[in-house]
Amino acid sequence: MEPLLGKTLAELQTIAIEAGLPRFVGKQLCEWIYRKRVTSFEQMTNISLKARQALQERYVIGRTEPTAEAVSKDGTRKYLFPIQAEMPDNRSNDSEKRTRNTQRSTLNYIECVYLPEDGRVTLCVSTQAGCKMGCKFCMTGTLGFHGNLTADAILAQILHFPDLTNLVLMGEGEPMDNIDHVLRALNVLTSDWGLAWSPKRITVSTVGILKASPLPSPEGKGEQKISLQRFLEETDCHLAISLHNPNPEERAAIMPAERLTPISHVLDLVRQYDWSKQRRLSFEYICWAGVNDDIAHAKQLLRLVSGLPCRVNLIRFHQTDSDQPSCHSAAVDETVLPKTLFPASDELRMVAFRDYLSAHGVTCTIRRSRGEDILAACGMLVNALQK
Ligand code: SF4
Repeated sequence: MEPLLGKTLAELQTIAIEAGLPRFVGKQLCEWIYRKRVTSFEQMTNISLKARQALQERYVIGRTEPTAEAVSKDGTRKYLFPIQAEMPDNRSNDSEKRTRNTQRSTLNYIECVYLPEDGRVTLCVSTQAGCKMGCKFCMTGTLGFHGNLTADAILAQILHFPDLTNLVLMGEGEPMDNIDHVLRALNVLTSDWGLAWSPKRITVSTVGILKASPLPSPEGKGEQKISLQRFLEETDCHLAISLHNPNPEERAAIMPAERLTPISHVLDLVRQYDWSKQRRLSFEYICWAGVNDDIAHAKQLLRLVSGLPCRVNLIRFHQTDSDQPSCHSAAVDETVLPKTLFPASDELRMVAFRDYLSAHGVTCTIRRSRGEDILAACGMLVNALQK
């Protein structure tokens, strides 16, 4: 049955009318689902029993609750959500037809990570089950691709936590490879009739792909547009680009996406948008000793981002230990963990790299690693149940 979670106000009004109910029931549904966060029709007490029964014949609310939790000694928590991902049918250029032809796959599991710190609570949200991008340093990349998360599955992760202050779409998956559902979820999140979040508290991450996909009908009528352009034009959310190396050959060796779309081409597109106001552009940069943490790389990075108001976040690489526990009942099998490619940079080199960028006008911060003991840190989402 179809979930109501993820529908717009206009769609819920149409659903109400089609069920023989007054149009205002659509607004009531929005309030119950997005404001009051109900998980069942029974809780919608200002909607008549008859109306609820009519809706229940065709729809479910669509909320999914986590089935496992792991708590790190630093307070980071990781949650396992059972979801049905969608395998897209890319044969059709028509967005409506693609949606109709799309099949919900069998049960999958995805993870999201809850990060409390200094009065803020950030949730790292997944947008796909597994990932196609195959970054060599990322455990999610080892899972392969198991399907797109629909908007209801993206929103279910967020609705489970009532105390969030910030969202980062940096969990499993590449958001620009699932743009229709990501934009739908962002629309619900930032609309007054939805969760009314400020887009300035939401950051969407990408490895930097320029994938074109059909625009939704009826406006689109088969017209294609690059996903990143749609994200930049249809939302005001912040953008984070996973860079990790400014040298094209070296970057391609760890990030296969670079071979399909050089990061310089992505930045050519990004330069066409206004970053001078409230919208933030950041680059994520994992530091490996003797690989990408010297001043020559800092210089190359400066040339690459020249003219772009942006910040660079340096990230410590996580060494994986064999005794790290999983939040799943099944133990993590070491064979699913990517081998440590290179040793992590030491503090002195990271500080020198940061200071060089800062002295040349690029704001740069060193991020501390979170949740390593529960395999929850960036790039460590792995799911033994999904193998
Ligand atoms: S780093 Fe992100 S884009 Fe790369 S494989 Fe992992 S989840 Fe996918």
